[in-house]
Amino acid sequence: MQRSTRLTLLISAFCILFTSACCRSKLSSPCSKQGLQSQNIIKAEPNKSVLKISGGTHLDGLHPELIKRARVLYELAEAEGIQLKFISGYRRFRKKRSTQAGRSVASWHNFGAAFDLNLFDRKSMRDALKHLDQDQARWNKVGKIAKSLGLIWGKPWGKEEIFHFEWHPGHPEALRQKAFDRLTRVTGPKVENYQNAWQLFDMKE
Ligand SMILES: [Zn+2]
Repeated sequence: MQRSTRLTLLISAFCILFTSACCRSKLSSPCSKQGLQSQNIIKAEPNKSVLKISGGTHLDGLHPELIKRARVLYELAEAEGIQLKFISGYRRFRKKRSTQAGRSVASWHNFGAAFDLNLFDRKSMRDALKHLDQDQARWNKVGKIAKSLGLIWGKPWGKEEIFHFEWHPGHPEALRQKAFDRLTRVTGPKVENYQNAWQLFDMKE
C-alpha cells in the first residue's frame, strides 16, 4: 500500500471514529458555502457495511453518491451519540390524480434521489413528531451534518418533512411540471428508467 493511500485511510478512519472539529470543518469546507459541495463527489468514505446500518436496505436503488452520503451521515451522527434508522428510500412514481397548478407533480424519491430517516428510539414518524420538542437538539445536529454533506433537509418545508433528505445537484427542490418533463424525457413518462435521470445531475468536480 502506498504511503499516501495509507494516510488517507487513516485520516478517514479517524474522521469516522472521532469526528474531530478539524474533520468536520473539512466536510463543510469553504466550497460548501458557495453551494459547490453538493455538486462534488464527497471525499469521506463510510466505514460500516450497509448491512450494519439500521434500515440500510432502504438505501437500495438510490444514486450511489447519495448512498455514500447517507452512510457517512449515519456514521457521523452515531459518533455524536445519535442513533438513526433509515425508513424510506426509492419509491416508484405514481401519477397524482389531480395536481393543482404550480404544485409538485413528483417526489425526488421517485428518482432515487431522496431518503427518509428517523431517530432510532422513535417507534414511528408519529411518535417522532410527538416528541419533537424534546428531540429538537438531536434533529438539528443531524440536519447540520446533512447540510455539511451537501444534502437538502426537508425541515424548512414543515415539521412533517423533518424526516426527509434529498440530493439532486443542478435541479430544483420542487418537481413542478417543467422540471419533471425535463427528467422524464430521459426516464420515460412513467419514470420507469428513473436512473437515467442521474445523467442530468451536475456532477462536475
Ligand atoms: Zn422523503
